[in-house]
Amino acid sequence: MNKAAFFKMSYGVYIVSSLKDNQFNGQIANSVFQATSDPPTFVASINKNNLTHEFISASRKFTVSILAQTAPMTLIGLFGFKSGREVNKFADISFKMGVLDVPIVLDHTVAYMEVEVIDEKDCGTHTLFIGRIVNCEILSDNEPMTYAYYHEIKGGKSPKNAPTFTEEKPALKQQPASVPEKGGIMEKYTCSICGYVYDPQQGDPESGVPKGTAFEELPDDWTCPVCGAEKSQFEKGG
Ligand code: FE
Repeated sequence: MNKAAFFKMSYGVYIVSSLKDNQFNGQIANSVFQATSDPPTFVASINKNNLTHEFISASRKFTVSILAQTAPMTLIGLFGFKSGREVNKFADISFKMGVLDVPIVLDHTVAYMEVEVIDEKDCGTHTLFIGRIVNCEILSDNEPMTYAYYHEIKGGKSPKNAPTFTEEKPALKQQPASVPEKGGIMEKYTCSICGYVYDPQQGDPESGVPKGTAFEELPDDWTCPVCGAEKSQFEKGG
């Protein structure tokens, strides 16, 4: 059996959102698909350990935001690699409440759907939530992001709770290292958890790390700006 066959499937990259007791949460999902057209029904495969699963189980409704290729790794990291049990993912992003009174993420969203759960199927680690479309709209003409684009162009990885997660690590594409003005070579480093690349020429301005800071010079308590992984989880190359 060649599990690489799995990667020949094509998917999109979505944010599935729901709520419980006026608390919002959402997560990255690639396993969302249309099951029937008349009436239109959709299926979302959600990991039972995720807070979004708890929220959909409670509210019986969810929204799907279809992300554009322009979606930055920080947005994907926030919704794909952080838990709503630790952070309020909706604190600094734009969203609106739809007709189901469920939040819809608007940042880099091409189109969205509002879904009412009509059935569900236990699928081991995941639940398949089957839903009826209550409303859907197109927000932009931007190109939707495919899962392949996320992996190949943006260098992203699968969160461990994703249905398509595997332990295999894709080979890192080697690129020329950065050369600082004062000589010497500064290497890029890649987060083994989320795929974020630390580029010394860019630094990490959001964390106060100036341009031209070598990875080795980062403070010990510096963490991945996307997923929060520690320095030790970075690998040379990018
Ligand atoms: Fe990371």
